[in-house]
Amino acid sequence: MLINQSVYISMRFFLSIHVGALLRIIGAGSAGAVVGGRLSENPDFEVLVLEAGGDETGITVIPAFSNYFIGTEQDWNYTTESSTKYCLGSENMNFRDYEENCCLKFINNLQECPYARGRILGGTSSINGMFYTRGNKRDYDGWANDGNYGWSFEDVLPYFKKSEDNRNATYAKNKRYHSTEGELTVSDLRWKTPMANIFLNAGRELVFTDIQFTMRDGFRCSTNKAFLVPAGERENLDIAKHSHVTKVLIDPSTNRAYGVRFFRYGKYHDVLARKEVILSAGVFNSPQLLMLSGVGPKDHLKDMGIRLIKDLPVGFNLQDHQGFGMKFTTDRPPSAFISELQESLLSNMTFELFQKGTIIELHK
Ligand SMILES: Cc1cc2nc3c(=O)[nH]c(=O)nc-3n(C[C@H](O)[C@H](O)[C@H](O)COP(=O)(O)OP(=O)(O)OC[C@H]3O[C@@H](n4cnc5c(N)ncnc54)[C@H](O)[C@@H]3O)c2cc1C
Repeated sequence: MLINQSVYISMRFFLSIHVGALLRIIGAGSAGAVVGGRLSENPDFEVLVLEAGGDETGITVIPAFSNYFIGTEQDWNYTTESSTKYCLGSENMNFRDYEENCCLKFINNLQECPYARGRILGGTSSINGMFYTRGNKRDYDGWANDGNYGWSFEDVLPYFKKSEDNRNATYAKNKRYHSTEGELTVSDLRWKTPMANIFLNAGRELVFTDIQFTMRDGFRCSTNKAFLVPAGERENLDIAKHSHVTKVLIDPSTNRAYGVRFFRYGKYHDVLARKEVILSAGVFNSPQLLMLSGVGPKDHLKDMGIRLIKDLPVGFNLQDHQGFGMKFTTDRPPSAFISELQESLLSNMTFELFQKGTIIELHK
C-alpha cells in the first residue's frame, strides 16, 4: 500500500510543483503530518508537504525493533558534541564518520551520544519508543500564563481528544479526557514479560501505572500512518518525499516568507507559497533552517556568511530529558528471551511470520 501511495504522490508532485500551493509544510514528522492531514481536510486549502526522508519500512512499523533505527538511513545521524561531562556511559560506543555516505558507525572513546531524529515520513514518530504520554497540566498552564493564548491545558485537551483513538475500554469510557474517534490509535501492550508486571507492581504504591503506546493492531501507528496515509488521495494534498529543504525564502523588505528552496534528486527547486510556509522540521532542523534563511543570532550568521534578515535568539533553550537503561542479571529467562527473540528475528524474519505471528505485538 505504501509503495502504491509513493508512486502516486511522486507523479502528482511533479504535476503540481510549478503551480504554487497555498500552504507549504516543511517536514512530515510528528507535527507536520498532523498539520498536513488536518489542513487538507479543508478543500479550499492546497497543501504541499516537503519531507527529506522516504516511506516507512516493513521494519520501522514493528514495535519490537523500535530501538534499532539510531544510526540508520531513517535517522538524521546527529551526535552531541564530545564532552567529558556527559555521555560518560557511552565509552566504547560512540559514533563518528559515515558509512557509505549514509549511516553512523561506531568509533571508540569520543565521549559523544547519538542524538536520534527521524528522517522518514512520520518523522521521529516513525522511529521512537511509541510511549503515548501527554505533558503535565501545569506545563501547559504555565505556557498560557506566560502569555501564550490558547495553550492552557483546557485549551489543548480538545485537540488531544480529537486525535485520539484509544483502544482501552476503560479509558474510552472516560470522555472527559479520552476519545475513540481520532486518527491516532493508542493501545495497551497485549503481551508483557512477567518481569514487567513485577516491576510495575513494585511501583504501584508510588502511583506508577501501565503506559499506553501509539500502536494499532500490534503495529506502530506513526503520525504518517494516522494522518497522511488516509489523506493521500486528496486532490488538494501533495507529499514530496526525499525533498530536503535548504532555505525558507523570505522577502527582506516585508520579512514575509514567500516560498522554500529544496534539493531533490540532484537538483535545487524554488517553490512559492501563496499563503503560508509552515516550518515543522523538528527541534534541531527548524532552528537550523531559520538560521540558513537569515533569521538567527547576528554574530553567528555573520560567522557563517549568511545574510541577516532578522537578529533573533534562534537555537537557544533546547530542553530534553535524559534517557538511560539499566541492566540486571536475573535467574529467570523472560528478559533474555526477548532479546534473543529480537536478535534471531533480525536475521531470520519473514513477511509471513510478521503477518501471522504474535511477534508483531512485542515491545520492550
Ligand atoms: C529515540 C527516541 C525515542 C523517543 N520515544 C518517544 C516516546 O516513546 N514517546 C514520545 O512521546 N516521544 C518520544 N520521543 C520524542 C518524540 O518522538 C519527538 O519529540 C517528536 O517526534 C518530535 O516531533 P517533531 O514534529 O517536532 O519532529 P520530527 O517528528 O522529528 O519531524 C521533523 C520532520 O521534518 C523532517 N525534516 C527535517 N529537516 C528537514 C528539511 N530540511 N527538509 C525537509 N524535511 C525535513 C524530518 O525528516 C522529519 O520527518 C522519542 C525521541 C527519540 C529520538
